[in-house]
Amino acid sequence: MAGPTCKTKLTTNSKFNKMRKKIVAGNWKMNLNKEASLALVNGISDGLPGLSDMVRVIVAPPFVNIPYIQDASNRNARVEVAAQNMHFAESGAYTGEVAADMLQAIGINTVILGHSERREYFKEDAHLLTKKVEQALEHKMEVIFCFGEKLEDRQGGNHFDIVREQLSDSLFHLNDVDWDNIILAYEPVWAIGTGETASPEQAQEMHAFIRNLIEQHYDDEVADRVSILYGGSVKPANAKEIFSKPDVDGGLIGGASLKTEDFLAIINSI
Ligand code: PEP
Repeated sequence: MAGPTCKTKLTTNSKFNKMRKKIVAGNWKMNLNKEASLALVNGISDGLPGLSDMVRVIVAPPFVNIPYIQDASNRNARVEVAAQNMHFAESGAYTGEVAADMLQAIGINTVILGHSERREYFKEDAHLLTKKVEQALEHKMEVIFCFGEKLEDRQGGNHFDIVREQLSDSLFHLNDVDWDNIILAYEPVWAIGTGETASPEQAQEMHAFIRNLIEQHYDDEVADRVSILYGGSVKPANAKEIFSKPDVDGGLIGGASLKTEDFLAIINSI
């Protein structure tokens, strides 16, 4: 199936759409010490009164700061906390790694997997990511699964094939029920941290393609209930237009999630 010609019937008007929540997630990466991250989470919490129940706000601090942020966010239930990574094994001789069970013991039930920086710098491939996804689901954790094409794939016109392959390699063996715990984050690598953003039309085109792929592998109900986030240089200036697209259910935000005002402005754009 070629991307642009695929059917795009699943949009906001579809019969199941009410079930899909909007999500704005901040990936803090390896940034901010304890003090700075507490100031950030408190600033975000203070800015959220009045936010619709249909919007989820998630922040993903580095492991070492999770307990502090979790504690601060417990005082304002609107901010949820996720991990940026985890290991595929239950426990064992994996120096420097963190297990699902350890995250859950401190109240973390959401994990980002497959981020392009993990794929690129830590050589996480489809086989490893599949094991991590399976481990998270085994623990009934929620996975924010990141994927997206590189610049050369987009320029060569292979972006739809790459995305199809990334999804089918790591996710399409899952059953319908597993998809209750999957959030997708389409993040074209050429747009991450570069200041270059996919146009709202490019994002919508890919998100509709992804939703239709899921419909083909499962059914329209599974396809319609999965939230598909866009990530890649989302800022206050472009968030509203990107989020206005019918198959874009929110964003995974890097750089702009580190500044209280910018992140709040992005949340308020949804
Ligand atoms: C990311 O790292 O997931 C990301 C989208 O980063 P940025 O918003 O900085 O492009």
